[in-house]
Amino acid sequence: MSILVDNIGELVTNDPALGDGPLGVVTRAAVVVEDTRVVWVGPSDRAPAADERTDLAGRAVLPGFVDSHSHLVFAGDRSAEFAARMAGQPYTGGGIHDTVAATRRASDEELLATAARLRAEALRQGTTTIEVKSGYGLTVEDEARSLRVAFEVTPETTFLGAHVVPVEYADRPDDYVALVCGDMLEAAAPYATWVDVFCEQGAFDADQSRAVLTAGMAQGLGARVHANQLAPGPGVRLAVELGAASADHCTHLTDADVDALAGSSTVATLLPGAEFSTRSPYPDARRLVDAGVTVALATDCNPGSSYTTSMPLCIALAVREMGLTPQEAVWAATAGGARALRREDVGAIRPGGRADLVVLDAPSHVYLAYRPGVPLVHRVMHNGVWQ
Ligand SMILES: [Zn+2]
Repeated sequence: MSILVDNIGELVTNDPALGDGPLGVVTRAAVVVEDTRVVWVGPSDRAPAADERTDLAGRAVLPGFVDSHSHLVFAGDRSAEFAARMAGQPYTGGGIHDTVAATRRASDEELLATAARLRAEALRQGTTTIEVKSGYGLTVEDEARSLRVAFEVTPETTFLGAHVVPVEYADRPDDYVALVCGDMLEAAAPYATWVDVFCEQGAFDADQSRAVLTAGMAQGLGARVHANQLAPGPGVRLAVELGAASADHCTHLTDADVDALAGSSTVATLLPGAEFSTRSPYPDARRLVDAGVTVALATDCNPGSSYTTSMPLCIALAVREMGLTPQEAVWAATAGGARALRREDVGAIRPGGRADLVVLDAPSHVYLAYRPGVPLVHRVMHNGVWQ
């Protein structure tokens, strides 16, 4: 079955060979989809026939958003902690332990219901690819079941047993690292694509982080790192050294960190929802792009420091607070996310790619930042199916 998606006012392909500028923009465009794939992209007046036709009345179409960093498997609520923080208490990351306790108490069904609800919420806002981490179980069984739940909502799953040292290991963190690298990894690996570590003061140092990442890589997992969120540190350079797909947060970077990223295949994934929700200084996306670093935007959706699934919010924040142009922010939220997950089939609209389209109730991609907070997503196609 083929569908002609016609009368697109502005089509963002992210393929400069197909249209104008870095976003490969085609105006008065059409896309033909067959089953789950895009098979034709170009001007409306040259579009081939198809079994069905959808007329978009001049709306803008973008590739589905690629949210390459989220924590959707959890239980509990931290709205009181958020309110306290907005009343002046500093963010320390300590509230993670509350979520760990609630997650361990929850049934598999409760965890899946929450993850599926948030996955559906993200899809309605245009997110067609999402990465989901474990990291609120922190026992062998709870990390394995967290990843089984994650795998029910996405194939992009990440083992984050090294999220924080759980309270029962507080005085022997190296024993916890050994558990993560041993039995926990073994139980988690069948359900995981990636391994991640929170490399930060108060979490895991450079040696511990390297141990976790290399153990995961030896099991065939790709590496990603929570790096340089709260302070400068070794996370970004470790990510580059190990060839990680992504260094995430990148809020506090030295010039050496920026140079290391620019000379590497590691994407800098910026998570402005975290700075928004912790009232913290934003990362300097302008500095990274100007240095030649590949930048992605993601939500970091989690109950403590960024409880949003909205990629349009992240785009608006990146433009207003982090120095990106609308064009750069849209690229980072689509093609950038695909790079951060090392995916070739998503993040662009081109023949052979997955048919993931976001239709905006607006004439151009600029409106995502120009009209912040407005539900601009008119319709979403995921895997060739209108949602
Ligand atoms: Zn995170």
